[in-house]
Amino acid sequence: MNTDWTMLEKCYQKMGISGEVYRFCNIIENELKDRFKEIDMIAHYNQMKVLHAMQKHHLSEAHFAPTTGYGYNDIGRDTLEKIYAEVFGCEDALVRAQITCGTHALSLALMSQLRPGDELLSPVGKPYDTLEEVIGIRPGNGSLAEYGITYRQVDLTPEGEFDWEGIEQALNDRTKMVTIQRSKGYADRPTLSVERIGSLIHFIKERKTDVLCMVDNCYGEFVEIREPSQVGADLIVGSLIKNPGGGLASIGGYLCGTKECIERAAYRLTSPGLGKEVGASLGITRELTQGLFLAPTVVKNALKGALLAANIYEKLGFEVIPDGKESRHDIIQEIKFEDPELLKAFCEGIQAAAPVDSYVRPEPWDMPGYDAKVIMAAGAFVSGASIELSADGPMKDPYAVYFQGGLTYEHVRFGMMLSLEYIKRTGNPSIYKRIVL
Ligand SMILES: *Cc1c(COP(=O)(O)O)cnc(C)c1O
Repeated sequence: MNTDWTMLEKCYQKMGISGEVYRFCNIIENELKDRFKEIDMIAHYNQMKVLHAMQKHHLSEAHFAPTTGYGYNDIGRDTLEKIYAEVFGCEDALVRAQITCGTHALSLALMSQLRPGDELLSPVGKPYDTLEEVIGIRPGNGSLAEYGITYRQVDLTPEGEFDWEGIEQALNDRTKMVTIQRSKGYADRPTLSVERIGSLIHFIKERKTDVLCMVDNCYGEFVEIREPSQVGADLIVGSLIKNPGGGLASIGGYLCGTKECIERAAYRLTSPGLGKEVGASLGITRELTQGLFLAPTVVKNALKGALLAANIYEKLGFEVIPDGKESRHDIIQEIKFEDPELLKAFCEGIQAAAPVDSYVRPEPWDMPGYDAKVIMAAGAFVSGASIELSADGPMKDPYAVYFQGGLTYEHVRFGMMLSLEYIKRTGNPSIYKRIVL
């Protein structure tokens, strides 16, 4: 071992990492070289894709100037939307600070395309928690249900496959829109690859050509070289404080899709008659654009971190989803601890590794919409940004943690080591033995 590595180990020691945890992580990391190469290649490709879009649309310094008030003729905002459309292979895009979060972007996508009497279909099971009130699965003030828009759902099979027959039966004259969630979110099902999403859309459009297919793309952007919009989706939707904001975006959401879909969404976001013409950027265009530029690299770092975590905790005997060998289609990693103390220790370790608020200790707490207390670790520069290293888990069986993000691989790696130290401290002797091994 050369001097540089000895110095690194000493530095880690100062930060609370023992020699055995340091060596244990090194061994696991060394086994991941081929997987890391593959992730590097994808990031390379996506970096060129983003750069090409910026050059093609003549991004220039003048585009970063702020606009206020109505925001008429905001050329920076308009250029960023052209760049987004280019990157995702779509006709048009809506990328706005006025879209406050992912749920808002998805709600906007649904409310703008659907009209009273229409039906929405989810062929991939229950959508993300916060959408239940948007759709009206749970009563929600102003939900689609209140406007006479009905909802149908076809669950995946127990093996995680599409229920082709069920989907075919669910399609009817009123089916106007299909919503497909790419990431598993907090559900117990596999995340969908872009290829699988493509085959699902193809199957649906073969049976009903005029149906609009929307993909909730949260956590999926830049994980593969293609996006769902390149395999038939009419509309893809996501949050800028996740993957595509590259850690720099301080607010915002995006919709990319066909010209008609984006037009309807713009008239809904602002007002009929106004559409995309208004919406001041208030000076955030530079951070949104630079964030997009960094996004392929940031996603790469988060992905490598998730893969390292999966392999570390798999080695320690826990069930991890996806497992250490599986191919990846989003940046989320689930670890089933089957023990409240271990779940808490993991989150405490992640919090202690944060650049912001590292000195606070996360506590399980009641959260609106959850039936159990939830523990969350987040020490982010942008409040709630889950592209930064963050973790949360409901305090109920199987005591699973969902963790994601990390702007740099080095930081996720440190977070994993510190989580191991906290888990070691719970005094679970069998885990300790496996680390020392
Ligand atoms: C994060 C997320 C959302 C909601 O985004 P918020 O910004 O938290 O409102 C919706 N769907 C999926 C799959 C997500 O991961």
